[in-house]
Amino acid sequence: MKKFMLMIIPFLLFPLHTNASEEKKETKELKAAIIIDDFGGGTGGVQDFLEGDIPITAAVMPFTENSKVHAEWAHKNGFEVMIHLPMEPKRGKRSWLGPKPITVDLSPEEVRKRVEEAIKSVPYAVGLNNHMGSLAVEDEEIVRVIVEVAKERNLFIIDSGTSPGTKFPKIANELGVPLLKRDVFLDDISSSAYVRKQMVRLAKVTEIKGQGIAIGHVGATGKVCSIGIFESMDEIKKRNIKIVPVSELFAGRLIKKHIVP
Ligand SMILES: [Zn+2]
Repeated sequence: MKKFMLMIIPFLLFPLHTNASEEKKETKELKAAIIIDDFGGGTGGVQDFLEGDIPITAAVMPFTENSKVHAEWAHKNGFEVMIHLPMEPKRGKRSWLGPKPITVDLSPEEVRKRVEEAIKSVPYAVGLNNHMGSLAVEDEEIVRVIVEVAKERNLFIIDSGTSPGTKFPKIANELGVPLLKRDVFLDDISSSAYVRKQMVRLAKVTEIKGQGIAIGHVGATGKVCSIGIFESMDEIKKRNIKIVPVSELFAGRLIKKHIVP
């Protein structure tokens, strides 16, 4: 028995050692995603991003006259597309939500119908995140329906992080739907200097966690946001951070999920 173990030990150790060093190399690669919200709405910054060379992820509002146009444009130029699902906030104007938003007065059947229609209205989408929604994301019944539909359609979820009381992480975990949370908002203040400052925050978060997610916007403040992001790319490159489509940030977790039953 002892002899057998001595023979087998080198074989056990060698592949383990190789795997460990490969893993180490992998975790050292810093990746960040920049999701740009509100495509499908105002056109400020749209062309800058969709004809630009930063691999942003385009989150497109459903049911608008530009939903399809922007989703197809993004896809044609190699950008990842998500559905930017409008959800009722605690404060704010109804008009900011656009057509057919998810509001807390809806029945679960109506929520399901709207989410399914939203998916149809944004071609090429591989995931979804919430537009506003500080009220609706706290409603467990509503969130459950959205996560169920995401699961059926193989969509991942990015919690935009508009409320600390969000039920998305809990329900997504329960139903086994891949979810990540936004780390940094880039353009709460519309100035390119502020956006650059927030891009440095994204870099710092990414250095600490190994990956990071920022959200910026097209539309009224889109031009300023795009200028700030493009001006920050030298700094991002200097810090050895690779900007990737947000789906790439799930890779490790999905593999782990397959390995660990
Ligand atoms: Zn939005």
